[in-house]
Amino acid sequence: MHLLYPQICFGCGTDQVEKAMPLCHKCIQDLPFTDFFSINENPVEKIFWGRADIQNAGALLFFTKDSLVQTLITALKYHHNKKVGILFGKLMGEAIAVEEKFKQIDLIIPIPISASKINSRGFNQSEVIAIGIQQIWHRPILNNVLIKRSWSNSQTKKNRKARLQQLPDLFYLQKPTSIEGKHILLVDDVLTSGATLEAAVASLMTGSPASVSIAVAAYTL
Ligand SMILES: [Zn+2]
Repeated sequence: MHLLYPQICFGCGTDQVEKAMPLCHKCIQDLPFTDFFSINENPVEKIFWGRADIQNAGALLFFTKDSLVQTLITALKYHHNKKVGILFGKLMGEAIAVEEKFKQIDLIIPIPISASKINSRGFNQSEVIAIGIQQIWHRPILNNVLIKRSWSNSQTKKNRKARLQQLPDLFYLQKPTSIEGKHILLVDDVLTSGATLEAAVASLMTGSPASVSIAVAAYTL
């Protein structure tokens, strides 16, 4: 198997990579880190001002077009490369674990994908990132509480504007008492407009958590 699929670095192509790592040590060091988890009122937090009641928020990496980060996100989301998600999660865990402001978090909730997407993709990439975070920063992961609705065929055909108007109903909360009074860290892969996270936070709020914070792997410039 190793001869057929040699393990090489996604960044530079070297075969000097540690087992289960998608990048070599040097390419990990050279990733475009935002340092947002240590910066108050960072650009990710500002995205949600006036839109969602967020305690703290941050992103691990800057996401730019045709970059290594884009290659990695594509590998994670479309080529079933869990190693990428675990690496992102571990790096996020390292950044979050040293921050006093995240110490109160009780639960990690990955942004869910719909049941139909789970069937076609095989896994939820945000959950893989959450597992990576947990390997460094030990907090329970709560699945099957925040649920993504599956669009019906007729909804899929609606134009983008019509679908965006339905965003508040994108998620619903199952067993809301399980998050009551809890400090929650919501985890997602890529932050663009923030609409998905905003809808997720709105659903979480119906369960009366103590607070919601956000951690994403990559932030679109
Ligand atoms: Zn490399």
